[in-house]
Amino acid sequence: MEKKDISYGAHNILVFPIPSQGHINPMLQFAKRLASKGLKVTLATTISEAKSMQIGSGAVHVEPISDGHDSVADKDNLALLTDGSGTLTRLIQKHENSGNPFSCLVYDSVLPWALDVARQLGLYGASFFTQSCAVSAIYYHVNQGKLDLPLEATPISIPGFPQLRISDLPSFVSAPESYPSFLVLLLNQFSNLEKADWVLVNSLDKLEEEEVRWMERLWPVKTIGPTLPSMYLDKLMVGDNDYGINLSNPNGKACQKWLDTRPTASVVYVSFGSIANLEEDQMVELAWWLKESNSNFLWVVRASEQSKLPNNFVEETIEKGLVVDWCTQLEVLAHPAVGCFVTHCGWNSTLEALSLGVPMVAVPQWTDQPTNAKYVEDIWGVGIRVKVGEKGLVRREEMGNCIREVMEGERGKEIKKNAGKWMEAAKEALAEGGSSNKNIDEFITKLINK
Ligand code: UDP
Repeated sequence: MEKKDISYGAHNILVFPIPSQGHINPMLQFAKRLASKGLKVTLATTISEAKSMQIGSGAVHVEPISDGHDSVADKDNLALLTDGSGTLTRLIQKHENSGNPFSCLVYDSVLPWALDVARQLGLYGASFFTQSCAVSAIYYHVNQGKLDLPLEATPISIPGFPQLRISDLPSFVSAPESYPSFLVLLLNQFSNLEKADWVLVNSLDKLEEEEVRWMERLWPVKTIGPTLPSMYLDKLMVGDNDYGINLSNPNGKACQKWLDTRPTASVVYVSFGSIANLEEDQMVELAWWLKESNSNFLWVVRASEQSKLPNNFVEETIEKGLVVDWCTQLEVLAHPAVGCFVTHCGWNSTLEALSLGVPMVAVPQWTDQPTNAKYVEDIWGVGIRVKVGEKGLVRREEMGNCIREVMEGERGKEIKKNAGKWMEAAKEALAEGGSSNKNIDEFITKLINK
């Protein structure tokens, strides 16, 4: 990747995400943007993740750190989440001792203890939110005791925000008993946030105007997204074509070759991201519809999920479908053959579809996905959310109706128009003079003048 001539020599930034694809992707992209603007940037990540990173030489230095679970098989065991102060302190001190000290720590918002480490060692601290401002607002209100859990089944009103049903809330809030430790982790994002020098959010002003304004009233917030590789947005960073990290073999060429043989806007792309596990019944409902419909499909079924596919599904659908265990999602979404994205509405996937103008069928599973799905359907008008039936199952007919409506129906026309509008807004935000680009410049200027 090209670097600008300016060098802010003394300003060496450490970026510290949790080791999960949905957090590393946006924080690494932000790191690359800083590097492209002349800053020295190091990204610290666990040894198992660092092995799979292929970052353009010279752009961002990757520093592998140990969380005590360094093989890929161990990576679900995130000791780093709760007790990483020692590791982080040692890393910062090592750089200090080698005459290459960090001046600022950009840390994942779910690691608030990292700010305490930064403060103790004399670094500036910027909390990086990989979730939407709307989702942050909900967690904040719960943390403040303004939304008492468990919630009543009435519309939830946060002043200035759209009314929400229980089913629109992050799952850790609507079902607090489901993953209590994750809820604690997410509420803790605010435990010391008032001490942060910056709060950086992977969103863009236009997308969440009210929500961004609300955050600005509380903290020094800067939206810096969407954090897609530059080639998909502003094209200002030559050579920034992909995230540079993949959970598994992305089957890039096979997917492109297959998509090239399909007509424009004919393919249903299906993916539930890097973590969500579907119930077997749900996989069967979806598989059934994909098999019986007239649509072409590209379905990402992670290796650990493949045993849930009906027997012989791949062989019996070979004419019209491709099943892969992972793909280069951005390349797929950018391909003209793709007509709609059946998505779990992870925040990165949502921003990617918005930025590339791909209409969505929202099938949220857990965590912040229900809130993202609510915004996709009702606020941004870029998709349709499926209705969940008995036993939490989305039936094949419902799945099919939503996909058909998005691809061919009347609502689909409006959705495609809106999708085009948001694609422009995303490009604008990162272009010269755009809101996120300006915010990144302001962050750098303030940092070097501090
Ligand atoms: N992704 C990918 N290939 C796939 C599926 C997902 O590259 O086959 C990427 C996707 O582009 C996104 C990330 O993995 O950047 C998933 O993040 P998201 O927030 O959407 O969901 P999560 O995996 O955290 O649930």
